[in-house]
Amino acid sequence: MNIKVMVVDDSSTMRRIIINVLIQLGVPQENIADAPDGLDALGKLKSNTYDLILTDWNMPKMDGLHLVQNLRHLPKYKNTPILMITTEGGKSEVIEALKSGINNYIVKPFSPETLKAKIEPILKKFEQH
Ligand SMILES: [Mg+2]
Repeated sequence: MNIKVMVVDDSSTMRRIIINVLIQLGVPQENIADAPDGLDALGKLKSNTYDLILTDWNMPKMDGLHLVQNLRHLPKYKNTPILMITTEGGKSEVIEALKSGINNYIVKPFSPETLKAKIEPILKKFEQH
């Protein structure tokens, strides 16, 4: 699978869990990049192009919401699938995230199965292109 994926979370444990799920779903490890905060991610996302972005909400320097808002202003990330992984399960937070342009969200704590279920349809769509 030639999809390139960016994983953004300030927890290295969480990044490892997400990356492991991606590998299990068939994404080659060399196609996966990660970042510990939104600012670092934004730089990497500008210098390379990624096809799927999985981002945490609460992070230092730049949170996931601001990352998404920044990305949606860039032509190359206008329609890129973005999944928000967050502890902010409140309805208003989720609505705010959806308005800012995320495609879907996952509330922590989650099982690897839940994450797989949300990622798999996106990967399938990508493979059909
Ligand atoms: Mg966090």
